Amino acid sequence: MNLDLYTLYMLSMVILSIAMVAYMILATLGSRGKREPEKKVITVLRCSKCGYTRTRDFKEGDYVGKVVDEVCPKCGINLVIDAIYEESITGLNQVLRNKRKRERTRKRQVARNGSS
Ligand SMILES: [Zn+2]
Repeated sequence: MNLDLYTLYMLSMVILSIAMVAYMILATLGSRGKREPEKKVITVLRCSKCGYTRTRDFKEGDYVGKVVDEVCPKCGINLVIDAIYEESITGLNQVLRNKRKRERTRKRQVARNGSS
């Protein structure tokens, strides 16, 4: 079998392009698989009297306007679900990073956040 340079070149180009397409498909599938579990649903609880808000993980049966068992630490009345949204862990990490930045300047503020 006698292959000339042109045939060899074409063959290697075809193999290269197939490898590149395969790599791109794998990379896309890989990142998609990683992204999905990073999403987190957050429920925002609000006090209708003083406007106090706090967030917690979404629980089954949560809906906007629902009165929950948790009470306002200031008024002692039941909190109402104000909003439900999806938060990505990457966004949360950014918040934590910002918190760490603030930690250096304002340690008292972080102590307050940690108590909730
Ligand atoms: Zn309140």
